[in-house]
Amino acid sequence: MIDYRFSINDIMKAAENKHGIKGWQAHSWERCGKDSIVTGDIPIGVFKSGSRKGESKFKGKGQKVIITKDELIKVAIEYETTTGKCWDCHGTGQELVGWDKSEGSIYRSCQRCQGTGEAAKAAIYSPKENI
Ligand SMILES: [Zn+2]
Repeated sequence: MIDYRFSINDIMKAAENKHGIKGWQAHSWERCGKDSIVTGDIPIGVFKSGSRKGESKFKGKGQKVIITKDELIKVAIEYETTTGKCWDCHGTGQELVGWDKSEGSIYRSCQRCQGTGEAAKAAIYSPKENI
């Protein structure tokens, strides 16, 4: 069984769902052993110019939300169970492995689903297996 892959984006989204207040956005992330500490807040506005144009503006220190590995695995399993798609590639069958100046993004067959894009049956029926 291959472990699920989680991007920082996935972790931040999980934190936003867990925090549960509408409009709350994660803005930073740190690793804490197997878990993640995500900090966020309700933005006070958006940068109107400069290099961060369009990004949310925050005031103060925000609130911390701890996201454990188990919680992330739960999110992935829920996704696979409801969509029937592979979590790692979100059904595309491909995973990004790098970027090349002349070729652009480089993909290979997703290691989790062997390129089928489908959720592994084992993940659906025995969710506790790889925790
Ligand atoms: Zn896949």
